[in-house]
Amino acid sequence: MKPQAIICDRDGTLIEDCHFLSCPEQIQWIPGVLETLKLLNQLNVKVLVVTNQSGVARGYFDEIAVEAVNTQLRRDVEGVSGAIADFYYCPHHPNGQAIGYSYACDCRKPSPGMFLQAIRDHKLNPAQCWTIGDRLRDLEPGLQLGMTAFLVETGSGVQALQDLSQRPYARQVTVISSFAEIFSLIQSDTVIAL
Ligand SMILES: [Mg+2]
Ligand SMILES: [Zn+2]
Repeated sequence: MKPQAIICDRDGTLIEDCHFLSCPEQIQWIPGVLETLKLLNQLNVKVLVVTNQSGVARGYFDEIAVEAVNTQLRRDVEGVSGAIADFYYCPHHPNGQAIGYSYACDCRKPSPGMFLQAIRDHKLNPAQCWTIGDRLRDLEPGLQLGMTAFLVETGSGVQALQDLSQRPYARQVTVISSFAEIFSLIQSDTVIAL
């Protein structure tokens, strides 16, 4: 079953999570991701990236740095004939230091703000969307909205998996080894059987 769109996390899901990544030179694609983005584009599955970037609120880097990384990611993906339909990031954190960013917002995951914005901007039906991430907080907004959720074992995924069994939504989450496994799931229709 082909999703209308995939709303996915960035660090630890698409690229290696190097703690507060802040410049394009630090980008390391997780194996198989670029090829998968190309295949998803061929199938007309929209991919939207939603990412918490609290490094801005913490004063580690600014929004220009976040956008420079996202611009490079977009270039890399377009270089393999893939596409990222949109990027959303939350620069906030309740305990940050940077003025204007340090408050409890409604976009930092697990809050649903970025997901709701993506749904509005791209006229998505959440029931036909998949959400993918390496932390439970990446999946919770999508689960609340009725999306199909996948936890990857890259990034922080192995730790998240340990916590998953204690969550009421555990049985609604499918664990996959990495983002690249998505493509074979679409082709095999495995997800329909869940
Ligand atoms: Mg992550
Ligand atoms: Zn926010």
